[in-house]
This record gives sequence, C-alpha cells and structure tokens, in this order.
Amino acid sequence: MMWRVGTVVALHDETPTARTITLQVADWPSHVAGQHVDVRLTAPDGYSAVRSYSLASAPNAEGRVELTVERLPDGEVSPYLTQELAVGERLELRGPIGGWFVWRSRQTEPIQLIAGGSGIVPLMAMIRSRASAGSTVPFRLLYSVREPGAVFYRDELQAISSRDDSVTLTYANTRAAPKDFPRPPGRVDTSFIAESDLAL
Ligand SMILES: Cc1cc2nc3c(=O)[nH]c(=O)nc-3n(C[C@H](O)[C@H](O)[C@H](O)COP(=O)(O)OP(=O)(O)OC[C@H]3O[C@@H](n4cnc5c(N)ncnc54)[C@H](O)[C@@H]3O)c2cc1C
Repeated sequence: MMWRVGTVVALHDETPTARTITLQVADWPSHVAGQHVDVRLTAPDGYSAVRSYSLASAPNAEGRVELTVERLPDGEVSPYLTQELAVGERLELRGPIGGWFVWRSRQTEPIQLIAGGSGIVPLMAMIRSRASAGSTVPFRLLYSVREPGAVFYRDELQAISSRDDSVTLTYANTRAAPKDFPRPPGRVDTSFIAESDLAL
C-alpha cells in the first residue's frame, strides 16, 4: 500500500496528554469507521519509525483525516505527534487499514460500544459516522477512563447524547470519579454493568 502525505491543518488538545491532529490528505480514498492508518516518521539520517493510529473522523469525501494521539511517557513517536508536530507540516501515512472492527452506516442492529482510554478513538469515528449518515440505530457507549479529565471528545459526546435519545453514554472512572458520580472509582465489573442498566 502506498504512503500518502497529509498536511496538518489543525491541532486540538483533548486532554493534557492527548492531541487531535487534523490532516488534509490528497487523494484520500475515504474510509470506514473503525479503520486505522500507519504513520511514518523519518529522521534526517533516514531512521524511520511507524505506528498505527485509529481514524477518529467520520468517513468524508473531502480528504479530511483526524487522529487522536495519547502521549506515552518515553514513547518514541507519540511525544513528537502531541508536542512538536505543527500546523502546516506534513506527515506520511498509509491506509485506511482494517476491515473487521468497523461500523458501516447501512448496519441496522443496535450497537454497544465499550472503550477504555484512547480506545475511544475508533468508536468515536463510529458515533460520528452514525451522526453524519443520519442513522437512527441505537448506540450505547460505555467509556472507562482513569479520571474525568481524561475523557476525549467530552463536549461532542454530551451534545450528541443530549440531542439524540437513542445514543446513551455511561462513564466508568477507574482512579478518580467526579463528586456527584454515583460510584466510587473502580474497574468495570458485573455489578457496574447491572447497576448501570447495561445488561444485555
Ligand atoms: C490498530 C492500532 C490503533 C491504534 N490507535 C491509537 C490511537 O488512536 N491513539 C493512540 O494514542 N494510540 C493508538 N495506538 C497505539 C500507537 O500505535 C502507539 O503504540 C503509541 O502511540 C505508542 O507509540 P510510541 O512510539 O510513543 O511509544 P513506544 O516508543 O512504542 O513505546 C511504548 C511504551 O513502551 C515503553 N517502552 C518502550 N521501550 C521499552 C523497553 N525497552 N522497556 C520498557 N518499556 C519500554 C515506552 O516508555 C512507552 O511507554 C494504536 C495501535 C494500534 C495497533
């Protein structure tokens, strides 16, 4: 698969450690929600590093691609993408990749999405894809984060779930919960599922 070049057109911090990078990619063939790209960085001496990032944006015909990268301490690629990459710079990417973990807007069955941390990114593409396609399929999102400040796309998720009764949003907080949260911090377990009315 060929490498393409994307130009950074916008940067947006989702949390203190995660940044959304919006790229304009010439000849982008569009994608399906759930797919990812490989990003390649090449140093002046020719050394290169490749990492995979999920597509956060809904499929679109404009060649607009959004990635959200969580910075890992001492990581090789994510600190560069979240701290140094600037608007106007170019990034090599290859994709879209992946055909199984996808949601297509013609699907009609109800969907339960479950995300932990940056695992929300491909699920956000699905939620955005549903919204942009005008689908009315019921979507439920269970989103586990370490603490409330770690939530990606908070305002957009809130807006979508408040205007659309068939999208429901449940947060789990593993290390710190908001003051008014009904449960102490902890991992998702069977009692969480039962009490959150998520039982299938
Ligand atoms: C399909 C797919 C989709 C993905 N989507 C996303 C996404 O949407 N957003 C996102 O943020 N990430 C995503 N990832 C993860 C991403 O590909 C990278 O793995 C991530 O950004 C870390 O890369 P890095 O180069 O910064 O860290 P690396 O340099 O690869 O290091 C990873 C971690 O390991 C530690 N480490 C490295 N070497 C050692 C060692 N020798 N001993 C001990 N520890 C070590 C580092 O300190 C760091 O914490 C995805 C991965 C896949 C496979």
